[in-house]
Formats: sequence, C-alpha cells, structure tokens
Amino acid sequence: MIGDHVYVDGDVVPRDEAKVSVFDHGFVYGDGVFEGIAVANRGIFKLEAHLSRLEDSARYLAITPALSRNDLVAAAVETARRNALDDGYLRIVLTRGAGPVGIRNIDQLGRPTLVIIAQHEAREARERIYRDGQTAMVSSLRRVPAESVDPKAKTCNYINNILAYLEAKAAGATTALMLDARGHVAETYAANIFCARGRRVMTPRLGAILNGITRQTVIELGRGLGLDMLETDLTLADLYCADEVFETGSLAEIKPVVRIGGRSIGSGRPGPVAGTLHGALRELMISGTESVRF
Ligand code: PMP
Repeated sequence: MIGDHVYVDGDVVPRDEAKVSVFDHGFVYGDGVFEGIAVANRGIFKLEAHLSRLEDSARYLAITPALSRNDLVAAAVETARRNALDDGYLRIVLTRGAGPVGIRNIDQLGRPTLVIIAQHEAREARERIYRDGQTAMVSSLRRVPAESVDPKAKTCNYINNILAYLEAKAAGATTALMLDARGHVAETYAANIFCARGRRVMTPRLGAILNGITRQTVIELGRGLGLDMLETDLTLADLYCADEVFETGSLAEIKPVVRIGGRSIGSGRPGPVAGTLHGALRELMISGTESVRF
C-alpha cells in the first residue's frame, strides 16, 4: 500500500498532491536513476550504501543531485517518519529534470527532480514464497551488456527487465532468470541470484549485473557463518545441478527458487542454506545496527 505522504523536491506532500512535470525527462525518456530500500522495525536498512549507489548511478548519467548526502538522508528519514513506515519500502527516484523535449535539450532542463515514495509492505504477504519457493523461467532476452548500459547503474530504464518479467508471467512463472550476452547466468529481472552446493555458495561475479546491496550483505553473512562464498561465472547447468537456488534483493530479501524452466532444483523445496542466510539477514535488518532509525 502506497504511503499517505510523498517527498517531492524538498516538500513532503499528501499523496494526491504529489506531482511531477509531464516534461520531466524521467517521464519522457526514462532518464533517471532510482533506489529501492527496505524498511524494517522502524529502521532504513543500509541507507548509506543505497545513497552511495544512487550517487554513483547519477554520476554515470551525469546527473547532479540537488541534495547533499546529509540532506538525502534527512529527506529519506522524514519521508519514512511522516508515513509511519514500520515495515516496507522506500523508493527514491532522481531524474534529469523538466524542460523542452529532445535529448539535445538536456542542458536547458531545470534542476533534477527528486521523489521519495513510501510503500507499506507487510512481510506476511511474502511469507508463502519464503515457505514454498518460486518458479523461474529462463528468459529469451539477454541482460543488456555493460558495453551498452552498465548494469551497475540502477537507471530508470528497466525495459530489458520488464520484457523478461512479461515472458515469465506469460509462462506462469513467478520470476525471470536472465543470462548475459555470453550465455552465463546474470540475475533475475529484479534480484541477484545465488546457488548452493553443499556448503559452497556461488553467485555470478560483477560485470553484467547490478551490484546488489543484499548480494553483498549475504556474501558477508555467509562468510560469517563459515560458508564458502564464491563470486564466479555460472552456467544454467550449475543452477540445474545445485542443491538450492535463491534470489536476493532489498525487498525480496532471500527468495528460494525451486523450479527453473520446468526442472526441479535439489529437493524441489526451499533448502537450509537459504533459510539460514535469510534468518541471519532478518536478524540484521531488525537489529538496527546497519539501519538509520527514525
Ligand atoms: N538486480 C536487479 C536488476 C534489481 O533491480 C535489484 C533490485 N531490485 C537487484 C538486483 C537487487 O539489488 P539490491 O539488493 O541492492 O536491492
């Protein structure tokens, strides 16, 4: 459920009054960047890491945020507080701004637009997926290569991912697995991917994927638990032969994938490695030690 209040360019306004210009190049071209951040137990999880990635994505597109880091933190905190966002999600969107259409006119735009949306997301709604796992289909679409648009940047151009999701939905699957241009496993349409074989846990190395903040957290948590965490090239065969496959993301947290392209993975049920890592991740999110409380 969308929160009652939205931050738009310096003001927190009621949801119905939250508006941006139709001339905004974020709307016209998808010319912008964004972040999706989990909120748990009245804490914004890994806010600094998300803002750092937002700033990097913006720098990549040569968009200069109107706000300093401290002001971005304050805006996120204010939005979460005004929405009494106990559990949910903050979406920060930063676009190049409004002005004449035409890419050639980007120097004539006003200041970049900044919007922060709060969304209440009860964890219970996802409980069934954590318990039963999800089904993936292998998308016919390759992840856009870094030579075209570097997937490290979280830009508002999600067409590649949306097309993959549409394929999965049409096939009756809940997630879309995407390969990179070389045919290695990249990520799913909105999350990073891991597989486990015994105590060895593997995930695609950086290159054709978003450098997921949850991915990094899970790698660190896994090492702390004595698992052998490895970033490497993976093929579909590695996933087919794994004991467990799971997705990671800020909102997804850790979602087991129990079927890929009609094949059962491991026991066909969510496994203990995903379960243990998810428990550790939840504990960290609830503890507040890596969250900004409000
Ligand atoms: N890959 C893609 C394509 C994503 O959109 C996301 C975020 N939803 C992720 C990975 C996971 O990133 P994070 O853990 O930083 O949320």
